[in-house]
Amino acid sequence: MPKINSRIAEVVGSTTLAITARAKELKDQGVDVVSFAAGEPDFDTPDYIKKAAVDAINGGFTKYTPSSGTEELRIAICDKLKRDNNLEYKPGQIVVGCGAKHSIFNAVMVLCDAGEEVLIPVPFWVSYPEMVKVAGAVPKYIQTTKETHFRVTPEQLKASITPKTKMLILNSPSNPTGSVYSRKELQAIADICVKHGIYVISDDIYEKLIYSDEPFVSIASLGKDIYDQTITINGLSKAYSMTGWRIGYAAGPADIMGYMKNLQDHSTSNPTSISQKAAVAALKASEEGIKAMRDEFKVRRDLMMSLIDGIPGVSYIKPDGAFYLFCDFSKFGKSSDIAKSILNDVSVAVIPGDSFGAEGFLRLTFCTSQERIREGVNRIKAWTEKVR
Ligand code: PMP
Ligand code: GLU
Repeated sequence: MPKINSRIAEVVGSTTLAITARAKELKDQGVDVVSFAAGEPDFDTPDYIKKAAVDAINGGFTKYTPSSGTEELRIAICDKLKRDNNLEYKPGQIVVGCGAKHSIFNAVMVLCDAGEEVLIPVPFWVSYPEMVKVAGAVPKYIQTTKETHFRVTPEQLKASITPKTKMLILNSPSNPTGSVYSRKELQAIADICVKHGIYVISDDIYEKLIYSDEPFVSIASLGKDIYDQTITINGLSKAYSMTGWRIGYAAGPADIMGYMKNLQDHSTSNPTSISQKAAVAALKASEEGIKAMRDEFKVRRDLMMSLIDGIPGVSYIKPDGAFYLFCDFSKFGKSSDIAKSILNDVSVAVIPGDSFGAEGFLRLTFCTSQERIREGVNRIKAWTEKVR
């Protein structure tokens, strides 16, 4: 074994991807697994999007594009950010990446230097701390509580700032909690970040999946100062059921975006040309399909909550967005043990909360049919009765 780059040696693989893959593997072996693991919509990519990709292939649109994405797609993204988020960006301020994950990674690499601190509210999406570690920067966790529905408060944020603080990673609606920040909460966070010169990565990937009346607000839209300190991240994976197509994007100050483009020039080059054509079609179409998907997710969320209500000793905070129910199973032991035991004993795949920094919790996705949700939660209930 050679000596591995010391930063990469520190990186742990993604539990979300690993457990999702394991559930698929078991299914392929004929095991009747209910998967509450995968953070991806189970709906098929809409036909009009597929058609745009087929047309791109048949029309020979199969060559390199500019590294940061085609002008056509970057214009469509600017139009979307203006229309939906009241954000003014020019095509030169957009870098299209191979998924939002890639765009966040590149933003972290460009902005964070060795020893600088990146604030990450807990519970967090599994990939944030690992990306920060790859950059040689230091993840600084902000512990949130159930009382504020796992949203970071201005006091908690202020108390976490040191002279080394470079950036905050915000994710609303949140993976894994489904919490959505209000405009007022974001304004308070923006004011602190501006006062202390802290950059923000605003991961807006679940923007279209909100079930409450709380409108989605993107923090960069709250004023010129915070706009200049924010990298807005979004993508096509969740809203258009396009996880496999790998299209995400970053929008931000032109100089920072220039460095992101340079980094991309020497790593992936452009995201797939065919997927870019599909993304243009997706962003230009009406949002009827998204609405239908959101309505179904809402029904599933309510169903999953009502079924979990029937399990004594398990609680959760109602998710207002995304497609995750983050449940407190601490009465049943350690998250990783519970997740293993539930998979082995009753063939239900869930993600243990410690992967998100929250020991004692399990993340259940409602990215599966109502029937499978009933089946899976009933099995978990039977498991709790057995081990109690
Ligand atoms: N951010 C969050 C919070 C996510 O849950 C995901 C899901 N994979 C992503 C970013 C990245 O999505 P993608 O790379 O598929 O665009
Ligand atoms: N974001 C999804 C999840 O959390 C997909 C897997 C991943 O990329 O982490 O399950």
